[in-house]
Amino acid sequence: MSSSFSSFVPPSRVLMGPGPSDVYPQVLEALARPTIGHLDPKFVTLMDEVKQLLQYAFQTSHALTMPISAPGSAGMEAVFVNLIEPGDKVIVCQNGVFGGRMQQNVQRCGGQAIMVLDTWGKQTDVQKVREALQANPDAKALAFVHAETSTGVLNDAKTLCQLAQEFDCLSIVDAVTSLGGSELKVDDWQIDAIYSGTQKCLSCVPGLSPVSFSDKAIAAIKQRQHPVQSWFLDMDLVMGYWGKGAKRAYHHTAPVNSIYALHQSLLILQQEGLEKSWARHQQHHQSLKIGLENLGLEFVVDKAYRLPQLNMVSIPDGVDDAQVRSRLLTEFELEIGAGLGELAGKVWRIGLMGCASSQKNVDYCVSSLAKVLS
Ligand SMILES: *Cc1c(COP(=O)(O)O)cnc(C)c1O
Repeated sequence: MSSSFSSFVPPSRVLMGPGPSDVYPQVLEALARPTIGHLDPKFVTLMDEVKQLLQYAFQTSHALTMPISAPGSAGMEAVFVNLIEPGDKVIVCQNGVFGGRMQQNVQRCGGQAIMVLDTWGKQTDVQKVREALQANPDAKALAFVHAETSTGVLNDAKTLCQLAQEFDCLSIVDAVTSLGGSELKVDDWQIDAIYSGTQKCLSCVPGLSPVSFSDKAIAAIKQRQHPVQSWFLDMDLVMGYWGKGAKRAYHHTAPVNSIYALHQSLLILQQEGLEKSWARHQQHHQSLKIGLENLGLEFVVDKAYRLPQLNMVSIPDGVDDAQVRSRLLTEFELEIGAGLGELAGKVWRIGLMGCASSQKNVDYCVSSLAKVLS
């Protein structure tokens, strides 16, 4: 072991990639406060506030609304392992990376994933989803990604959830990148199961995954024939810890300081107001669009369903993707995202998430890119 190790001091970067996004300074302050016991009455009160603040962020009255103590992928897994049993059929929409992960989750639960595939960069085709539901009247759930971070596409969650209702399916929604950044109304849209992450438009530290389940989803969990294969993510057990007020029982140790951080970031969202936060993401997206187009960069996604918080532009011919991103990072302390999968090397993904969605960041990104590209 080297004796020259010393405390890690991270560089101060500007995070404009697909996440994590810049964290609010107040959130970092909250994180550094003294750790208390996870069953301390003061902590129990904090947990209850976090649940209420999450209900506001999700626009839901669902009682089963809480953060899973692990990142967005664990929220995804929590939703699938609780709702899907061996033999269940799930219609899964895929138009990017994350729909593919939903497919794998369904299969690992022993379910059958009926895929509705659309081109990466295009929106999920609602008509194709309707046909898949018609062809599979025994489907238990319809699963889709609201904001596809791999491409910058916003899927039509409201219409897709209406379809799920019409065909008596549970709706499962990935809102990791949409929560706080795009209009999202869990109760109005009748979403049955939804998961998100803390490190995108909430501008909190990575490592927690807010989830929410409707009464219909809870009824489906209660009717399971097989126990949930994951002990840690079994919502019935988790709720004994998160759901019972002062009577709560030990299940696992909540990441106490991360919960302080989430509470702070949700408080900031509540103080700003959800609608204002959505509008701010839209406003800075418009401003970034003008700046990038002035540099000759073209957006890939049709503007009718472009995400404001994740901007995907084509890399101009003859430009070295890795070199540009590396210079932005080393010379400008600026992180932007690379393309994923079939889009690798062809696009950049510029995030404007949470507190990183600011005019200052837009100007900094455009001027830094201009210098590196010239
Ligand atoms: C980031 C992301 C995830 C995964 O979240 P992690 O916190 O990285 O596990 C899932 N779905 C979407 C749409 C994402 O953008």
